[in-house]
Amino acid sequence: TKGAAMVTAVASRVQAQRKQIDKVLALFQLTQEQLVGIQNKMRVEFECGLKKDTHPLATVKMLPTYVCGMPDGTEKGKFLALDLGGTNFRVLLVKIRSGRRSVRMYNKIFAIPLEIMQGTGEELFDHIVQCIADFLDYMGLKGAQLPLGFTFSFPCRQTSIDKGTLIEWTKGFKATDCEGEDVVDMLREAIKRRNEFDLDIVAVVNDTVGTMMTCGYEDRNCEVGLIAGTGSNMCYMEEMRNIELVEGDEGKMCINTEWGGFGDNGCLDDIQTQYDKEVDEGSLNPGKQRYEKMTSGMYLGEIVRQILIDLTKQGLLFRGQISERLRTRGIFETKFLSQIESDRLALLQVRRILQQLGLDSTCEDSIVVKEVCGAVSRRAAQLYGAGLAAIVEKRREDQGLEHMRITVGVDGTLYKLHPHFSRILQETVKELAPQCDVMFMLSEDGSGKGAALITAVAKRLQQAQRE
Ligand code: BGC
Ligand code: MG
Repeated sequence: TKGAAMVTAVASRVQAQRKQIDKVLALFQLTQEQLVGIQNKMRVEFECGLKKDTHPLATVKMLPTYVCGMPDGTEKGKFLALDLGGTNFRVLLVKIRSGRRSVRMYNKIFAIPLEIMQGTGEELFDHIVQCIADFLDYMGLKGAQLPLGFTFSFPCRQTSIDKGTLIEWTKGFKATDCEGEDVVDMLREAIKRRNEFDLDIVAVVNDTVGTMMTCGYEDRNCEVGLIAGTGSNMCYMEEMRNIELVEGDEGKMCINTEWGGFGDNGCLDDIQTQYDKEVDEGSLNPGKQRYEKMTSGMYLGEIVRQILIDLTKQGLLFRGQISERLRTRGIFETKFLSQIESDRLALLQVRRILQQLGLDSTCEDSIVVKEVCGAVSRRAAQLYGAGLAAIVEKRREDQGLEHMRITVGVDGTLYKLHPHFSRILQETVKELAPQCDVMFMLSEDGSGKGAALITAVAKRLQQAQRE
């Protein structure tokens, strides 16, 4: 009959559409073999970054941090910490009590307006100092000369613990006249310009390093720090003899890998999709930080948006209508992705979230959107897992161990908020590094506490040297 023929026609159209959608989703599915390949490539890049000859051109920079030891529990005192480069800018007061390994913190969050993130360096650092002044006022600490640790979550070339030359901005920052400059000097100069208080800047610290330190304070086995947040990065303790850029063969030093730059030499081109390329081209730093752009919170939502635009163009979503909202950059923040992917959420609630974002969806649309989010975040977690597997395997081999136990300190909104990310990351590491027993430890406020701990250790060493 005519009715039956129509039903069949509709059914086959639905089937054809499903095929098209699956084809797009398949681009994000990595085989075990591909993941092993990525793990191996990451390993090669680690070695390139560590060796003097290959370091200058290395895309994974493997930067020495001059952080050599973990806190030993004797650290104490009051410290200021700054945390710049994550989701928020914060100023903290950290009180460390010796012996009991207890830390108390007070902090204030400040917004950094876009025009300051992307204005001049002077404006950025004046703003930072303004925030410090507000905080000191608020805490009743004006005039107190406290040691300060500066968590600055961007790639810096360090020659000591209190010097760090910004190599290049990443994520949403692009202030002028900062690249190639020492960020500690810039902070000191801004404090001088204000001429209101003095601070003793003791350490500049990457957020990964702060995270590792914070977890290391409680678990001596913690020798890796991982950030899965706005940006993507990892640090770990390396044998001094393997660090050709720094004199000396004794003991260990923390290396900030800056693995976000993995793939910038084209070695990930085979897994890059057209959507990744579009995200890269629309970013502040095209061609740079390609691994970060496939893995971190600042970009995952953008990949999702590019896919949705394409599916809509193909007539597979939103009735084929690309709305103004869908054209708007940055609408899918990590918190929305996390909500959309939550299994506790009914589809109606997914539609409500899309509604909040300004996207009108049918029930079928919401299913597809959820699948797209899942494919993108799953790939990100697997890529993280491959990178992490590369470092723990390297550490195991370097120490000549058959089997190794290691703890990874982790921070970041993606890891903490997303319903599946951490699980998939952990499963991937288990599969790719079966001879390693990897424990994951969430850091409570790694950037602030860690910067204070590193500052405390540096202060203790300074004093020991003077005596
Ligand atoms: C930066 C790293 C930082 C990471 C996480 C990246 O964009 O280059 O220095 O650790 O983001 O915040
Ligand atoms: Mg942070």
